[in-house]
Amino acid sequence: MKMHILNLGKMYLDESALVAGIHGGSLRNQNPVAQWVSIPVQAVLVEYDGGYLLYDTGCNIREAGTPDDEDTPSPFEGTEDILLPAQLAKLGVDPSDVKYVVMSHLHCDHAGYLYLFKNAEVIVAEDEFANSMKLYGLRGFGPGPYKYADFNDFLAAELNFRLLPDPYRDYEIVPGIKAVSFGSGHTFSLTGLLVSLPDSGNFLFTADALYRSENLGPPVRIPGLIFDSLGYVKSADYIAKYAEENNAKIIFGHDARQFATLKTGTDYYD
Ligand SMILES: [Zn+2]
Repeated sequence: MKMHILNLGKMYLDESALVAGIHGGSLRNQNPVAQWVSIPVQAVLVEYDGGYLLYDTGCNIREAGTPDDEDTPSPFEGTEDILLPAQLAKLGVDPSDVKYVVMSHLHCDHAGYLYLFKNAEVIVAEDEFANSMKLYGLRGFGPGPYKYADFNDFLAAELNFRLLPDPYRDYEIVPGIKAVSFGSGHTFSLTGLLVSLPDSGNFLFTADALYRSENLGPPVRIPGLIFDSLGYVKSADYIAKYAEENNAKIIFGHDARQFATLKTGTDYYD
């Protein structure tokens, strides 16, 4: 097996969205200044004996550049040459070669190119799919991270979805690769990925269940941007336990410091 971690551009946002109160006030510093930070957008491609599996699909190019709305809380920066289609091409992989796409969840920095994978089985937690589709049907996305254009694209593509009923513990997709249920927290239901490599060992990808190492703690620190705070803490504790039981290195969803230490692109783990 070969595992490529893909660098699919950057988002910018107020750091307190990642870790609530990270720049909290004090007697000495009564009016702390917000910090505008960049975070990586990532996906994972695993070549296993028999095909390719992809975890998340990054942002679509239409999210890039200067948005019309200058009040946008999390602008995306990325160019065609680094987004998912180009990264796969660099690795000699056509979207039709991908047999499984595991979606952590359906926010725009994860679902931007999902529509390309018409030959794949697309694995999503049922609570995530059902609840986001309900919002889609009711035109209830608002200015948040679910985007109509992404849903329009992947519904038009008539993808082959496989829903994992919540709650489940984990689900072996192919030998050495498991979808792991983290449940409600960041969103309705988030799916992690456990990859077991013969030389490099076990990796547990958390996506947005944990943006950065600070969220894991201990103690767990919730992000400012959150759907279910009690579920988030439960999920974070579960990730710590699951990683320990499986002797896995935790790879956070949007941790710029950790990301800088990882092998990415054509470089790989095996
Ligand atoms: Zn998200």
